[in-house]
Amino acid sequence: MYLCGPPLKKGKARVFHGLHQDFPSVVVVGLGKKNAGVNGQENWNEDKENIRAAVAVGCRQIQDLEIPCVEVDPCGDAQAAAEGAVLGLHEYNELKQKKKPVVTPQLHGSAGSEAWQKGVIYAEGQNLARYLMEAPANYITPIKFAEYIEQKLGNFASNVKVHIRPESWIATQQMGAFLSVAKGSAEPPIFLEIHYLGGANANDSPLVFVGKGVTFDSGGISLKPSSGMDAMRADMGGAATVCSAIVTAAALNLPLNIIGLAPLCENMPSGKANKPGDVVRAKNGKTIQVDNTDAEGRLLLADALCYAHNFNARAIVNAATLTGAMDVALGSAATGVFTNSSWLWNHLYEASIVTGDRVWRMPLFEHYTKQVTDCPLADLSNIGKYSRAGGACTAAAFLKEFVTAPHWAHLDIAGVMANKDEACFASLVSQDYVNGTDQEEIRTGVDQCIQKFLDVARQTECFFYKKDCSCPSRNQNK
Ligand SMILES: [Zn+2]
Repeated sequence: MYLCGPPLKKGKARVFHGLHQDFPSVVVVGLGKKNAGVNGQENWNEDKENIRAAVAVGCRQIQDLEIPCVEVDPCGDAQAAAEGAVLGLHEYNELKQKKKPVVTPQLHGSAGSEAWQKGVIYAEGQNLARYLMEAPANYITPIKFAEYIEQKLGNFASNVKVHIRPESWIATQQMGAFLSVAKGSAEPPIFLEIHYLGGANANDSPLVFVGKGVTFDSGGISLKPSSGMDAMRADMGGAATVCSAIVTAAALNLPLNIIGLAPLCENMPSGKANKPGDVVRAKNGKTIQVDNTDAEGRLLLADALCYAHNFNARAIVNAATLTGAMDVALGSAATGVFTNSSWLWNHLYEASIVTGDRVWRMPLFEHYTKQVTDCPLADLSNIGKYSRAGGACTAAAFLKEFVTAPHWAHLDIAGVMANKDEACFASLVSQDYVNGTDQEEIRTGVDQCIQKFLDVARQTECFFYKKDCSCPSRNQNK
């Protein structure tokens, strides 16, 4: 190493050839400071984050060399190493004739093989959400999305039930807000409902996850500018996050019950589409004036959140690429969390430090509620009175009008939807199961599940990494 230049910086890699007959190419990566621990300014665990980033960089070097298999040193945390490897090697090239070579990562040595395997499962869950977001909207329509998830859950049929609810069911549920968005498109809507029963008792209160599933958002009659509109194929990031988290929870056999709800549709302009000023009625009877048809996510979520109250939930967490204002506020550094529960906030915050999927608490002040309830024609307007000011907060205040549960959190993931310049892989670390009472095991299960959820939420950062990510694992050779 000393003969080959200055010491390796954190997240950088150097390739050596011909050092060993079993390993014709060896990539050395910089892990940064040893035992860096939790960084209180950055709100994450730097050791884990550094390992994920560095291993991802190293694996991509191997991919560039077109070597089909790579053995990865656990770097002291086999799970983090596995996450970095599997996330770093992810490619979406299904529709190209010429594909990048597939590289299979393996653990070097036998120490930490269980942790490695866990990391692989987590990362594969995140790659599933990435796949769904990156895929074109004409491939991932509402029904295709639902069928893909159903197929992924096929291995766990003994404790998973998938209901693919058609338009007629949505109508009988009186989900008028959701249907008003869907009717502008020729693609029929789907309400996807997943029950994962991993708890000791099928009647144990579940965690309920809700995800916005707009498989393409043109804005509707309030049409978006055409530049960058292709990115709106990922406006189902919330649904992708929720469903991938449940697929992963099933693969890990987590000891708790989870219900996932994903209203899926397109938002398109047509002769049947919502018009600005139209009034629609949500499932709980509240009327909504649709002042801007591009604020459609909250219409889907309003009905889905009403429905989520049927399950006596331990907590309701929804994720949505909801507002451009969220991106303006925090960029891609953190997910904005709006919650009525400090208990739930503490879980989310603690988990985010471990996973590196940072969260930042945002307000649900009455101040914002007044701006959505002050409406000429209906109980609520779908945009705040001052439109742009505090847009992420008025959207959250709108959703709150459909929530009575004591533990609810809304995650606005619009800012982390497209990666700007952070590491282009996501991360998750779970606590190991502790030997203890069932209660303790369930608590850990909840933590683990929320961690997984956050983790998948963060991965949305990367779905466009091929275009605009300047992270080291992509730019090493550019
Ligand atoms: Zn929209």
